Amino acid sequence: MQFLVTGGAGFLGGALVHRLVSLGHSVRVLDDLSAGDPARLPPQASFMRGDVNDLPRLWTLLHDVECVYHLAARVSVSESVRYPREYNAVNVGGTVSLLEAVRDVGVRRLVLASSGAIYGDQPLQPLRESLTPLPLSPYAVSKLAAEQYVGLIGRLASLETVCLRIFNAYGPGQQLPVTHPPVIPHFLHQVLGQGSLVVHGSGAQTRDFVYVDDVVDALVAAATAPDVNQRVINVGSGAETSVNDLVRQIEAITGREAHVLRVNEQDSGVSRMCADLTLARELLGWTPQTFLQEGLRRTLVSDERFAARPVSDQ
Ligand code: NAD
Repeated sequence: MQFLVTGGAGFLGGALVHRLVSLGHSVRVLDDLSAGDPARLPPQASFMRGDVNDLPRLWTLLHDVECVYHLAARVSVSESVRYPREYNAVNVGGTVSLLEAVRDVGVRRLVLASSGAIYGDQPLQPLRESLTPLPLSPYAVSKLAAEQYVGLIGRLASLETVCLRIFNAYGPGQQLPVTHPPVIPHFLHQVLGQGSLVVHGSGAQTRDFVYVDDVVDALVAAATAPDVNQRVINVGSGAETSVNDLVRQIEAITGREAHVLRVNEQDSGVSRMCADLTLARELLGWTPQTFLQEGLRRTLVSDERFAARPVSDQ
């Protein structure tokens, strides 16, 4: 198949492109490199630097494409609180631009990388797709708006669409921006470098950490699964891990004791996150394969930023 992956030079996009190429597909990548790195792409992929709001460029790239993966986005919850306009322009505006171009050119299917952040704080766990979203950040609002546009323009233009609500993905190659580092690579980096880990609130807040290869499996399945049109599907591990538990697991896998600084904060983010995977099993035939301990181990041994440092056998 011929694919276009927007945001394909990013963490999840790069892993997806590698997989698609290894399956024998042709892949074009559009990425503005605001966070991505073309060096992570395999030589078989054809890369174009550009903005997802650039319609003429999209028309060219979409020629003969059967399926588009839309991953290009600004991805930090905390940064989105500071720059909501930017998040709206890229995550909502960029999605609408892409949908216009896809509609004009005629593509069979579009898969959106949406987010579990859309759920916000919900009393009922695990989180089912039928819950009313309670977005708590401009990032979450932008992803919800993108989902709505994808569903609506998909219906109007007879384009098949599917939105995957990805939870906290992690794995080798995940970016570590200084201002808003994702928790797993940040904690690994700090423990291995004998720095401190800052835990906000009690540390009892939970997240659903899903390994990058599992996310890629779900994305690949979403391109061809037969009954997914107009569906929104969770992609998580289905397991709930508290931040305190994550610290313990990181100590076990690195063989190092973590120096934890506890910051008393009323607002330590959403209190619980755990994905219900019933729909993913039914519609994508997908279940995650990698438990957190194994995913952490693979991250340590495969990510060159960590691999040089000694790791315990535990
Ligand atoms: P990432 O930042 O590594 O990838 C995003 C890519 O989009 C980057 O390469 C960036 O350069 C590119 N990009 C940003 N703005 C662009 C623009 N205007 N035009 C073209 N390219 C642009 O992040 P990621 O973790 O790989 O996330 C990929 C997608 O998955 C995003 O849509 C994100 O919202 C979604 N998602 C990720 C997670 C996660 O835990 N990683 C969880 C839920 C959803």
